[in-house]
Amino acid sequence: MRRLELPEQWERVPELRQRVEDLLKSGRRRTALDEVLRHLRHDPESTDALVLALTFLGQSRTETLESVEPMPDVQRWCALLAPIMTECTACHVAWYSNHVLLRHGGITDMAMANPVGLQCQDCRYTLCRDCLARGRAQSHAVPVDMVEFADQPCPASGCNGTLTTPVFPTGCHDVTPMDPNEIEGVIVARDGLIPPTMDEALVPVTKFLPLIADDAPLIHIRRSIPGLMSDESTREELARSLVLEMEREMAITSAAWARSERMFIRAGTANDTDYLIIVVRKDEHHPSPRRGTRVLTYTYLVQVLPRRGTWGTLRDPHSGDFREGTFGAVAVPEGTLADIAQKIIGQSTMDLKHRVLFFEGDRTKDEKLSFADVYGVVTQGSDIVSPYSDDSA
Ligand SMILES: [Zn+2]
Ligand SMILES: [Zn+2]
Repeated sequence: MRRLELPEQWERVPELRQRVEDLLKSGRRRTALDEVLRHLRHDPESTDALVLALTFLGQSRTETLESVEPMPDVQRWCALLAPIMTECTACHVAWYSNHVLLRHGGITDMAMANPVGLQCQDCRYTLCRDCLARGRAQSHAVPVDMVEFADQPCPASGCNGTLTTPVFPTGCHDVTPMDPNEIEGVIVARDGLIPPTMDEALVPVTKFLPLIADDAPLIHIRRSIPGLMSDESTREELARSLVLEMEREMAITSAAWARSERMFIRAGTANDTDYLIIVVRKDEHHPSPRRGTRVLTYTYLVQVLPRRGTWGTLRDPHSGDFREGTFGAVAVPEGTLADIAQKIIGQSTMDLKHRVLFFEGDRTKDEKLSFADVYGVVTQGSDIVSPYSDDSA
């Protein structure tokens, strides 16, 4: 398990610190954690981002309750934070302890009145408050959070250490160690008739894989067949058929089964159901997956560049609608977008520089068109799809 071992010195990320500090000042913990997670998504090893997260995740319950923004599970238990989680060796319940930061800050006396758990100072065997209480014969009549725990010998065999405070991160046993940038796609199926929404699917996905809510485009939700999740062989069969289905749709590159890992997540609480999660790693031999052959619907919008000025759209002066031929939708393989753009530009008789913006999805129907969702831009005469910018260059 990967866990944070705080070095004497580490590289600070001043911009991230500043942003997080500003957000926390106004009680915006959720947004602050989003910032940290985005950073970790691209630099999962960043000690400074992990330390920052721990400074506010390791706060007391009261401080947490006073925050204006509650933190949803999809963030709080994100697998990217696994290195700073402390996990009970017996029951695997996890929490965040900031003792490692206190020690770094020079505080050595960490005897706490009501610790969430105790840890062996030699081998890091950890027990949560509930498991400690369970081990005490006389504890039945005493509410768990009233129990005070005395130091006790470490239960790990062959270890002569003591369970006490401080409690340091242990990492999390069920997080699959993986570079987020190696993930080509994640297939999610939930037991039962109704497939999960993306928000629902994100909870188990981010808990077990180093991804964040921004990664929703990598996640493919698929229908399950009721009953198939109950035993391992039918589950594998279901996984195999889902992978093949995705390959046929060219949503993932071929031979994906060999690059896939299946995770079966059993319902934790009454409201959950079982999930099958299939993570497919990128094909190293074909570093640029055959994305170019994926057929998707794109909405196009033609823009022109006046001699002095910035890129603009062409609209009918009376109705305000886009001028005919400058706005529409096409369902085509991704690799043909540049050709299609040149064809569309070729139909124009205006002697101005043109470019075509492509949006993913069919926005000629009710969907709204926003420049924030431009998929790519093809400028006149170019055979590549480049990212959107509003520069006039
Ligand atoms: Zn426990
Ligand atoms: Zn021990």
